[in-house]
Amino acid sequence: MSVQNADLMAKMVSLCKRRGFIFQSSEIYGGLKSCYDYGPLGVELKRNIASEWWRSMVYERDNIVGIDASIMMHPNVWRASGHLANFSDPLVDCKNCKERFRADKAPKAEPGSQVSFLEGGKKNGKSLTGVVGKSGYVCPHCGSSDLSDERQFNGMFRTGMGAVEPLKEFVEEVYGKNLTKEEFTAKLNEKVESNAVYLRPETAQAMFVQFLNVQQTSSMKIPFGIAQQGKSFRNEIVVEHFIFRSLEFEQMEMEFFCEPGTQREWLNYWTDERMNWWKKYSNAADKFRLRPHEANEMAHYADACYDVEYDYPWGWGELEGIASRTDYDLKKHAEHSGVKLSYFDQQKNDPETGKPGWRYTPYVIEPAAGLTRAVLCFLLDAYFEDVRKDKDGQDVVRTVLKLHPRLAPFKAAILPLVKKDGQPEKGQEIATAFRKAGIHVSYDDSQSIGKRYARHDEIGTPYCITIDPQSLVDDTVTIRDRDTAEQTRVPIKDAIKLVETRLSEAK
Ligand code: ATP
Repeated sequence: MSVQNADLMAKMVSLCKRRGFIFQSSEIYGGLKSCYDYGPLGVELKRNIASEWWRSMVYERDNIVGIDASIMMHPNVWRASGHLANFSDPLVDCKNCKERFRADKAPKAEPGSQVSFLEGGKKNGKSLTGVVGKSGYVCPHCGSSDLSDERQFNGMFRTGMGAVEPLKEFVEEVYGKNLTKEEFTAKLNEKVESNAVYLRPETAQAMFVQFLNVQQTSSMKIPFGIAQQGKSFRNEIVVEHFIFRSLEFEQMEMEFFCEPGTQREWLNYWTDERMNWWKKYSNAADKFRLRPHEANEMAHYADACYDVEYDYPWGWGELEGIASRTDYDLKKHAEHSGVKLSYFDQQKNDPETGKPGWRYTPYVIEPAAGLTRAVLCFLLDAYFEDVRKDKDGQDVVRTVLKLHPRLAPFKAAILPLVKKDGQPEKGQEIATAFRKAGIHVSYDDSQSIGKRYARHDEIGTPYCITIDPQSLVDDTVTIRDRDTAEQTRVPIKDAIKLVETRLSEAK
């Protein structure tokens, strides 16, 4: 049975904490807003998603290679990419309830229409009315139209590099001087900018900046791609829905360089590939959709863009953006760095001159997915509850995390029925053999077998291998399937092969 949306998020957050998938960061100090730590099971799930993505993008193709770039890059990277000037969100304050929100994500309302809302946004507040302004939206929290003007807020985290203390130098320089507010601000900015570096807000730029190094060292021929996974940081105005939108998160991005004029064909190819990838690991393919961007939401340099969206408990939301970015990025970096970021195709004739050999700036298709968002999506997708009657007729709820076997934190649990009669020793022997084969298993001999099955169902372990008295006699074990609860008896010597085959053949 799938769980109603209203309950699902609360149940998921609670399961994540209870079972060790995700914890609040710095919890013993009261937590740090929107920062999360992945616990022993969460880190496995996240790594498994990342490695399935890497397998499908890099290992299964001969025209995509990976990189792992540093998080801090030369500040000119962000000048060239436009992030310093434009990576900002329109910030608005609600004068009624004091909520701070993003104008572009606020609920739309007809300019000039009347809206009603409660004073202070409180349940027992006085009923008030207001008129929607020209901006055409209201406060997402209380519905008020009494709002501040929009201010642009840059989403990049700034930090300083090197053993200099710009603020100390600043104080030395301005102390006792009679400066105007403008002069004071200009001096302060100049000092802070003097050693400023930024935490990357996306992993993509390194793939553009390293285009030539990668293309030349790996002798890549167009069309080819560069893939990268890693942390990104955005000082988001609104953080929401657990790990859906956080300040520090992980991305899985790939820049696919192609010949000008072929970008539509490749965009279609990558939207198909990526949609199929998401669906492959899910229990409900209809919860994923591809949404073309409206003209007004598309970046000015893109000639087409799609979002892969998931039907979250609060509605459809983005999982991955797939953009056709034209030759904008390479051209911008070429312009700012003075280095020619182009490709020479000896086999082709230049379309302008008709002569053999064509030098051009490649076009780019970028599938950019969120890894931490994928963790949330696959956890929500996998959450099921079975309600059964116990012997007294009471409802017993069995929570099952139906994670794709290759995403599951543990691939199998090794469970001796009892903690005696040589069963634990046999169990440890089997666990060691699995570990030697590179399969992550849990050896678990605490509590009753029923409780252990329930625990492993709840954390998504696809196979439970049980050692019982018969195991000691004829070297067999039972393998229980998480989703059907069916058990089959197999020789111990075949158990690893069987789990390996099921894992590799899963969907
Ligand atoms: P949104 O519209 O949700 O703010 P975006 O369009 O800004 O996302 P992109 O810049 O396209 O996102 O980034 C690619 C992917 O990175 C997104 O599809 C999402 O999965 C992930 N992502 C972006 N911002 C965050 C965040 N603050 N927290 C978690 N994941 C994020």
